[in-house]
Amino acid sequence: MNVAAILRQKGRAVTTASPSTTLLDVASKLAAKRIGAIVVVGTSGGVDGIISERDIIRALADHGAECLSKPVSESMTRQVVTCQETDTLDELMAMMTARRFRHLPVVTDDALVGIISIGDVVKHHVAEVEMEATAMRDYIAHS
Ligand code: AMP
Repeated sequence: MNVAAILRQKGRAVTTASPSTTLLDVASKLAAKRIGAIVVVGTSGGVDGIISERDIIRALADHGAECLSKPVSESMTRQVVTCQETDTLDELMAMMTARRFRHLPVVTDDALVGIISIGDVVKHHVAEVEMEATAMRDYIAHS
């Protein structure tokens, strides 16, 4: 299973915000959409950063509630690790585990074409393991 196959099932919609969006508006969007991260996209359409619920908690702890009226560009992570449609489920799991984050924007030809969360990875991994177990049980039953 690779990223293209996951996107075929979940779709290619990505929730984005511009760098000038306030942290409060980002928090509202995360809550309304029940997601954990938003990709920050600049005027050129490229990925400028990523902001997750953890960044908002850190900003609140460091600067207090006034950070909520500041632009998201002040709290986002700028060095965004992305993945490609050809990356496999195993490669995504390895990236998320090694780098300790739960979101990977998908980029094709410099364009943002999707996002994979740890929830997507776990869901498809469990499905793969269940398929293998079923195949193994069938093999044992018929041999
Ligand atoms: P998360 O586990 O996704 O909530 O994110 C934990 C931390 O990693 C936050 O500081 C995020 O901004 C950052 N982060 C999340 N995804 C990525 C990514 N793909 N590339 C770089 N940093 C990320």
